[in-house]
Amino acid sequence: MESVLIKNVLCLKGFDAKREDLLIEEGKITYGKDKSGKVIDGRNFAAVPGFMNAHTHSAMTLFRGYAEDMPLMEWLEKKIWPLEKKLKPKHIYAGTKLACVEMLKSGCTAFNDMYFEVEQIAKAVEECGIRACISSAFFDFFDEEILENSIKRVEKDLKLLSNRELIIPAVGPHAPYTVSLEGLRRAMEIAKEKNAIVHFHLAETEREVLEFKKREGKSVVKALDEIGFLNSRLIAAHCIWLNDKEIEVLAKRGVSVAHCPISNAKLCSGVFKYEDMIKKGVNVCIGTDGAASNNSLNMLEEMKFSALIQKVYKNTPEFGAKEVFKSATENGYKAVNLRGGKLEEGYLADFSLYDLNTVSFCPNHSLLANIVYSASNSVVYTFVNGKAVVENGYFKGDREEEIKVIEEARRAAEELIYGD
Ligand SMILES: [Zn+2]
Repeated sequence: MESVLIKNVLCLKGFDAKREDLLIEEGKITYGKDKSGKVIDGRNFAAVPGFMNAHTHSAMTLFRGYAEDMPLMEWLEKKIWPLEKKLKPKHIYAGTKLACVEMLKSGCTAFNDMYFEVEQIAKAVEECGIRACISSAFFDFFDEEILENSIKRVEKDLKLLSNRELIIPAVGPHAPYTVSLEGLRRAMEIAKEKNAIVHFHLAETEREVLEFKKREGKSVVKALDEIGFLNSRLIAAHCIWLNDKEIEVLAKRGVSVAHCPISNAKLCSGVFKYEDMIKKGVNVCIGTDGAASNNSLNMLEEMKFSALIQKVYKNTPEFGAKEVFKSATENGYKAVNLRGGKLEEGYLADFSLYDLNTVSFCPNHSLLANIVYSASNSVVYTFVNGKAVVENGYFKGDREEEIKVIEEARRAAEELIYGD
């Protein structure tokens, strides 16, 4: 693989900006002077570690703007689930590709996905050159036969997803209100056997938590802990309706939590105890959730909103850019056991170059503050695994290539709404 030298670029290392020559060799970051490969003049760029979108349903870009201003259960039951029934593999492929382009162009280099038709998702991911932890949503609806079929599908999916350079295989039991405790136990068992990540929704709404307690006679965290479901291979999205003791259990078991504040606010699900989670030692990551409840997959927006809502919620102005930036980058990579999300020697070369000659970066008193609070459409390059997948501000450096992806997704969305 050709090396890339970015000369004299302003690197965001930790929380500080430093001018350096950034070299990429064999998909990793180094700091050397090798000029044998491609050379980019970095004077007008800021190099920033790539974001890991820790919870999304990428193909749901097709539902962007389709069902607005509704509470979660009504939104799912009346709008989303009926439309999902009409999805064909080609729609999922087109929606996922649109999602990948959207993420890459806003500085996101990896994502944690849960949806259906993993073969289509993997194809879109590899064609776009983004990194992804992929799971198919697994339901049993408290029915033994459905559970057995889901297990068979998961085993097939894990096989299909393994040994692919940019893909991290995962199992995706959907949520405690759609999967039985036995189903969750089996899902974790398979994940351990195949060394996969587990991706799950937890305590997103108050109703879900109360209904679980009524059904099982104990709190959801206690029940999950008893079946060995809480451990470091678990990424639990949302985790809003948990008390201090339950947060402590998650921390102790090494669970990663994907905080999705825009989706939570939009669906009125509640406010996440971000500061408490961090203080108790939980690995908090940031996710956008699907575009149906966001409506974008932009991690820059998500970081800003994460910081702002927490300041209001806890009345702590001190909580802000450092915490959310760490969550969006290195904590996300840590959740999937990858050495990424930092511009350090030996880390994965997953990062973006932002144009410093844009209004968002002028003046540049603090690169960290500009990234979290003002950066918008300033990404010029995005590198994943050392390869430029966004160049000159366009996906694959080509406006036509980008339009093709957009048109295909538009056709798929229209077919879904107006087709049989
Ligand atoms: Zn979700």
